[in-house]
Amino acid sequence: MEEAFVVAAAGTAAVAAPAAAAAGGRPVAGVRAVSDTPRRPLRSPAALAGGLRALRSLRAAGPVLSRWGAAVGRRRLLLAGPRSFCAGVDRAIEIVEKVLERQGPPVYVRKQIVHNTHVVADLERRGAVFVDELSEVPDGACVVFSAHGVSPAVRQEAARRGLAAVDATCPLVSKVHAEARRFAAEGYLVALIGHAGHEEVEGTMGEAPGAMVLVETADDVAGLRPRDPGKVAYLMQTTLAVDEAEEVAGALRERFPAARAPGSDDICYATTNRQQAVRAVAAEAELVLVAGSANSSNSLRLVETAERAGVPAHLIDGPADIQLGWLAGVSTIGISAGASAPPAVVGQIVAALAGLGPVDVSERVTTTESIHFSLPKEVRSP
Ligand code: SF4
Repeated sequence: MEEAFVVAAAGTAAVAAPAAAAAGGRPVAGVRAVSDTPRRPLRSPAALAGGLRALRSLRAAGPVLSRWGAAVGRRRLLLAGPRSFCAGVDRAIEIVEKVLERQGPPVYVRKQIVHNTHVVADLERRGAVFVDELSEVPDGACVVFSAHGVSPAVRQEAARRGLAAVDATCPLVSKVHAEARRFAAEGYLVALIGHAGHEEVEGTMGEAPGAMVLVETADDVAGLRPRDPGKVAYLMQTTLAVDEAEEVAGALRERFPAARAPGSDDICYATTNRQQAVRAVAAEAELVLVAGSANSSNSLRLVETAERAGVPAHLIDGPADIQLGWLAGVSTIGISAGASAPPAVVGQIVAALAGLGPVDVSERVTTTESIHFSLPKEVRSP
């Protein structure tokens, strides 16, 4: 790794140009502490106090510059492919944009449309109003349901209040809802493998509240008490870690050998593909950075996937979250982004790392995606 060239200078002497020349192409940081001013000239007694303050400032800057010095250097950046927006997120954002276009602000959205601070802030700037509950939406207004889906109780409440609802639920979440209804109607106890408190889980559980139970871990399976052990089915939250969810499903099949599985995988293509791609970059990297917000389930799973591959990994909302200490001695960084993180954030992360030394950027593409979901009729062009 290249070393940084740090110059610390007191007084007013110009040092930038000679320091840069001496650095021989390495990143240079210059610190200039000014001890004399027109009101406090160099030869006045006050200059002595100014000089001492300047010295203290330089001492305080020292540790910061050492961290920076350890973090700079030439690096390889490996971009995981696929990464960033999936078809369900693209569709949900487009739905809010179309409603804003058609009827103008404000447009109410129940919960965050997708779990990403940048997406939410951008839509807020354009007139979207995010609310936690329908009670915050004025009677008769238009409300968009988020990509994570809602329970039938929320739909009924919207209808009762005369709200014009536009549903941005991802079709792959709707598929899990339909499976829950089908299994419950056939008399099965439906075990939903997922994380408590996640909006998608709340929506899916609401499809058949009397017939569903949440299982988060293999240990939870031991606590299940179905009326008929021959009539147990299981479903999954769409954004789980594939291997962890399979462990819980295995425990269910072991305890209930006749357990019915979903007709096709519930963990969606975008989650599966991004986990596979992050594993590919983790295999070559010393550090993995995942763009995504703290409440994004699929982004958190990408961090865990990289960590399970034995590589330190961090979730960052943007370049400002990168800590210099993570980069010391690291020459290859894998970069991915959760399905709700805008592609532009990855560009910003690359630019920030390029500010710490020359970067060689390449992609590791494990598969390509061409899935596109059509818009709901309320916002389709005539
Ligand atoms: S992560 Fe999967 S389930 Fe969620 S919005 Fe994207 S495609 Fe749909």
